[in-house]
Amino acid sequence: MRRGQLLVILSVVLSLCGVACFAYDARESIRLARVSGLWGIGGALLILAATAGIFACTVFRRACREMTRTLRELAASGRLGFLTPSDAQLAPLTASINEVVEFADRAVTDAAMRLKELEIQLKVATAQRHHAEAILYSISDAVLVTDPFDEIVLANESAARTFNFELSEASRTPIERALRDEKMIGLIRDMRQSGSTSGRRITEHTIRSDGTRRTYKVTLSCVADHGAEPGADPSAPEGRPPGAAPAGVVVVLHDMTKEKEVAEMKNDFVSGVSHELRTPLASIKAYVEMLIDGEADDDKTKREFYEVIQNEANRLSRLIDNILNISRIESGLVKVNKQPQSLMVIIKEALEVIAPQAKLKGIAIEENLTPAIYQTRADKDMMYQAVLNLLSNAVKYTPDDGTITVQTLVDEAKRKVITRITDTGVGIPPKDLPFVFDKFYRAEANSRMAKGTGLGLSLVKHIVETVHHGRIFVESHVGRGSTFGFELDLCE
Ligand code: ADP
Repeated sequence: MRRGQLLVILSVVLSLCGVACFAYDARESIRLARVSGLWGIGGALLILAATAGIFACTVFRRACREMTRTLRELAASGRLGFLTPSDAQLAPLTASINEVVEFADRAVTDAAMRLKELEIQLKVATAQRHHAEAILYSISDAVLVTDPFDEIVLANESAARTFNFELSEASRTPIERALRDEKMIGLIRDMRQSGSTSGRRITEHTIRSDGTRRTYKVTLSCVADHGAEPGADPSAPEGRPPGAAPAGVVVVLHDMTKEKEVAEMKNDFVSGVSHELRTPLASIKAYVEMLIDGEADDDKTKREFYEVIQNEANRLSRLIDNILNISRIESGLVKVNKQPQSLMVIIKEALEVIAPQAKLKGIAIEENLTPAIYQTRADKDMMYQAVLNLLSNAVKYTPDDGTITVQTLVDEAKRKVITRITDTGVGIPPKDLPFVFDKFYRAEANSRMAKGTGLGLSLVKHIVETVHHGRIFVESHVGRGSTFGFELDLCE
């Protein structure tokens, strides 16, 4: 038993004894008409009881103060802790407070666990978002994600390039401000308003910027918000699954300009090939029919007819060879094998083959070649074919007794090697110059000078620019001659 309790009991006992003394004394004074003298003891006892009560109060107050101090200290430390009863009378109060503390402690522990779970979920969600963003940024197609207010939520670099907006400022920008493309804006709005979270729309769209036209395959789909309240959107169309309101639209733009160009090129090529093949074939057919019908009655006419047939058959064969050559190289069927090569060596080999034809026409060939130490990474066979085509054209389109100069120059600063093949030939009219590298293009003015298919320069351009990432060029003056050349990177 604690001091406080003892004092309270003592105070109660003393008060009772004091009261008993006073009662006895009062009875004695009534019965015997005299004072027993016990009132003095009773008074003393009551004084003692009051003193014990005061002490008990002091002890109780001190215990209360101590408990208050402990509670304040706990509050200041920010921890939850249990109280130890400093006085037996305060024990029930302390026990109740401890129960509340225990309950609060359990609630705090639960909250801490929930917080940890939420932190883990947040980490997973953040990692997933980073993952998705990394995928988004790494793909070459343009990707845009919008919210229900038609503002951009996500966009990748390719999208920023396509629509010419600043990627860092794109977030939360309305699509009208970022895209500035009426058709695209309309497509996104229509998709969102359709509310269809199950299907997607695919369409073709051409974007013009900086003077270029690019064609895109646009795929639009709605992002379903599964957390949305069913029926929250009164404009929602019927049939939409409950709780799957469109939270925005995902747009993917796949650039198919090149594919379209290739398809167009293929069409042009096929129609060009059929046209070019049909002309000599029709001629052969006509002359053969004339021979069968007996229209060539004398030997001289027959011979003339046979010569036409032979020439046309040769032309047909040249055409087929060139077509096969060009389509095999352009389609990638011919394996490219790039090795450090000296252009000087390749040019020398081509010159050896072309020299007899040049000699026949009395054409002089001048060489001004850099030493073989300057090398470029090239496919020898393909580069040989390109040089041979240029040399063969120079011989074909240069009248007798002309000159062909073959020159290579090294630009050390730019790490380039430049090859120039200059002739003193007929030259090319300015109106034809931009088209000489097109398939089947033949300058009308020169077509009578030499037979050809219009495929040679197209193949040279493909070999130099597409296969070797170089640059081809032409300079020409009618009646004075032409210079065809190309530039390639020197080996490091
Ligand atoms: P082709 O088989 O007709 O020679 P190319 O593609 O090699 O086909 O050349 C295309 C056209 O460019 C030729 O028809 C000719 O008109 C012109 N051309 C090419 N090289 C020369 C040259 N060295 N001098 C003049 N014209 C040329």
